[in-house]
Amino acid sequence: FKSKVKEMKGKESISKDGIRVEIAANIGTPKDIDNVIANDGEGVGLFRTEFLYMDSDSLPTEEEQFEAYKIVAEKLEGKPVVIRTLDVGGDKDIPYLELPKEMNPFLGYRAIRLCLDRRDIFKTQLRALLRASAFGNIKIMFPMISNIGEVREAKRILEEVKDELRKENIPFNENIEVGIMVEIPSVAVHSDIFAKEVDFFSIGTNDLIQYTLAVDRGNQDISHLYNQYDPAVLRLIKMTIDNGHKAGIWVGMCGEAAGDEKLIPVLLAMGLDEFSMNPASILKARYIINHTSKKEVESMLDEILSLPTAEDVEKFIDKNIIIR
Ligand code: PEP
Ligand code: MG
Repeated sequence: FKSKVKEMKGKESISKDGIRVEIAANIGTPKDIDNVIANDGEGVGLFRTEFLYMDSDSLPTEEEQFEAYKIVAEKLEGKPVVIRTLDVGGDKDIPYLELPKEMNPFLGYRAIRLCLDRRDIFKTQLRALLRASAFGNIKIMFPMISNIGEVREAKRILEEVKDELRKENIPFNENIEVGIMVEIPSVAVHSDIFAKEVDFFSIGTNDLIQYTLAVDRGNQDISHLYNQYDPAVLRLIKMTIDNGHKAGIWVGMCGEAAGDEKLIPVLLAMGLDEFSMNPASILKARYIINHTSKKEVESMLDEILSLPTAEDVEKFIDKNIIIR
């Protein structure tokens, strides 16, 4: 298996019946890019920018951020780089921000909620992102979106920053794509409406599972309840992909499930366009895609989505789909 996986280097990610997808990488710092290139990633589907903020004693300046985003964009030579705006709070603390102690940090003041409140922080990051967009194929992604108002407000602020840059004659990609993470169930359920507001969706299963099942993703005592094969979660994923496609936008996934060997064929069958994962998983994912017939798994989707439990789903996949 290992040697066969290595042979996937330089190959396309295309199913047995000719459906092409993109297999991209999740990264946390610009240093990770070398690993993405070594593993033949077709882009970056998630750059978690919070590490720029967490690895520092104070807010990273516009210039520091610009350099970090520019290097990644340049090294990827025109391949897509999805950069997520600050996703702090929950389990990710930034001491110098002195965020309030909360009863329910995962439901609290975090990510886009914080950014829409702290415009100074948000605008600095957006300026850096836009400036870096002149040097490669950068796309901007907003995390933890829960309602339409947040998307509109974030986009409005982005337009404000674009105007500032135009006035200063600073170049940026005028056609930069803007997307959102689908990681809160309200967005998946309402994805037909959200799809009209953005250029792409990226499904964040780590949080989508947590919020759908009401299971803290970091709590060991209830980890048996956290399951990526849960039929309710799979239905939300399917709904999101279908609604994205109906509106003509592409749909990716950057949660851990995108690199799950058993789920990859199912996600391919659902029509997922982009799979973003740990760089070390890319070639294996490509192997699985190249050995799966989308049509074949598509014919099983109705049955999979009507199974009653996560265990049933996993068993069904083990019996009928697993790629070796
Ligand atoms: C997710 O929630 O699936 C995700 C990719 O974001 P993070 O793991 O950084 O919360
Ligand atoms: Mg998340």
